[in-house]
Amino acid sequence: MTSAPTTAVQSISSGVTDFLSRPVQHLIGGASVASASGESFATFNPCDSNELTQVAMGETEDIDRAVRAARQALGGPWAKMSPSDRSKILWRVGDLIEQRSEEFAVLEALDSGKPLTYARLVDIPLSADWFRYMAGWPTKLEGTTIPVSAVATPGNYFAYTVREPVGVVGAVIAWNFPLLLAAWKLSPALATGNTVVLKPAEQTPLTAALLGEVLRDAGVPDGVVNIVHGYGHTAGAALAAHPGVDKISFTGSTEVGREIISAARGNLKKVTLELGGKSPNVIFDDADIDAAIAGAANAIFFNQGEACEAGSRLYVQSKVYDRVVEGVAEIASELNVGNSLDPDTQIGPMVSKKQLDTVLGYLESGRVDGARAVVGGRQKGEAGYFVEPTVLVDTTPEMKVVREEIFGPVVTVASFDDPDDIVRMANDTDYGLAAGVWTSDVSKAHNIAAQFRAGTVWINSYHILDPALPFGGYKQSGWGREHGAAVLDAYTETKTVILNKG
Ligand code: NAD
Ligand code: MG
Repeated sequence: MTSAPTTAVQSISSGVTDFLSRPVQHLIGGASVASASGESFATFNPCDSNELTQVAMGETEDIDRAVRAARQALGGPWAKMSPSDRSKILWRVGDLIEQRSEEFAVLEALDSGKPLTYARLVDIPLSADWFRYMAGWPTKLEGTTIPVSAVATPGNYFAYTVREPVGVVGAVIAWNFPLLLAAWKLSPALATGNTVVLKPAEQTPLTAALLGEVLRDAGVPDGVVNIVHGYGHTAGAALAAHPGVDKISFTGSTEVGREIISAARGNLKKVTLELGGKSPNVIFDDADIDAAIAGAANAIFFNQGEACEAGSRLYVQSKVYDRVVEGVAEIASELNVGNSLDPDTQIGPMVSKKQLDTVLGYLESGRVDGARAVVGGRQKGEAGYFVEPTVLVDTTPEMKVVREEIFGPVVTVASFDDPDDIVRMANDTDYGLAAGVWTSDVSKAHNIAAQFRAGTVWINSYHILDPALPFGGYKQSGWGREHGAAVLDAYTETKTVILNKG
């Protein structure tokens, strides 16, 4: 006799069970296909390290087929479609994500370990929203007319610009927001008329595969979006180096970002990069302290700290330091760490054994360097890859835990007195993705925001991301901006046309 199903298992719908009963295939030229080699790999549930299903393992040959399909689709119905029809398709993608949101949410929670509650509230609706926001752009991709002076007969010349798609876009993404990151790449690439080869993270291929079904059902023509699964050093590297790819859009670690740049050298393909961060979050003593405490906890613990923009370095003005540390530690100790499908779970496991080991390695290095965990500091349980939400104090600026991205539920805290010092401390990092500041003094907030070397600054808030708001990194956090009107530059070429009126 089998034991009674747990609450967690009961919430898996027949759609999800069905999806997991088949191996995940690549999507190439509109067809669901196995790898040329016939090889596959497993994707796991990080809550219990059980295999969820097998996934086609793409390598050079599969990437090659996908790039050829994308190249061919550039000259097909996609190019001839009116901007308004392209818009309608993108809007429909948003609708279909919403219609199948429960399947998406459960697959995302199973594959990545993120709490189902947050997948339902954040990842899935935002992904739908991204497609809808970008659906507005195809009909608004305008050029300009430009007066000409540097010729003998300026009046004879008429000059204008048009925006054209870059061509075939290779998209390589991380595992922390699998569907949302796919939406961040695909929605602007498609809105601007490109075709795409997407390489999802090998840890979390499932929702990208389901998105492939949705794109087909929404009417995206065959070959416009191709999805090749596989590892980074094989499939990812082959895509980054491929001479038939015009642009790579990458989200992942700074280290791999450098490899992408090297691989892109061959044909000088365009590159945009969304990389890591070690973002400062600064609390002044004149802030609404209860709001700042809740905000600081959310800044680091949302998505188990597996967020590129996480507020992982907390700086607190000395007068309120003890109160803030105590408050954040109290929240950390009360967070429900558990199975991602349990509706009460707030913190799921790290995505993989490797990520668990990385985070535990940082905790050990913090201990050795003299940092003290006020709360947490250890692995939680033995099954799965759980880490206790951790608050580290007694930190110094040169410690590894303060300098390097941990990408787990671990925040370092330090105090400051002088507002001039805090800008220097906050900017003392190789990264520059985001920053937070908590104060009730409006002038101070804007002054500090102006001095942060970071792509996004949140004032009395954190983690506010929106399809309309440009997002990206200063320094080693990346190249270029995603979202809003700013992303259009990353996916288009500007052509200048000059007419001699005769
Ligand atoms: P990673 O760089 O190891 O992997 C990211 C992707 O790159 C995966 O799809 C992987 O298969 C692929 N890849 C790995 N090696 C490759 C290679 N040599 N050539 C081509 N592709 C390769 O990163 P990760 O550990 O999976 O993700 C965590 C990192 O991503 C963190 O540093 C985090 O800050 C960053 N991140 C940034 C953002 C952002 O928007 N700025 C968002 C999410 C994650
Ligand atoms: Mg997985």
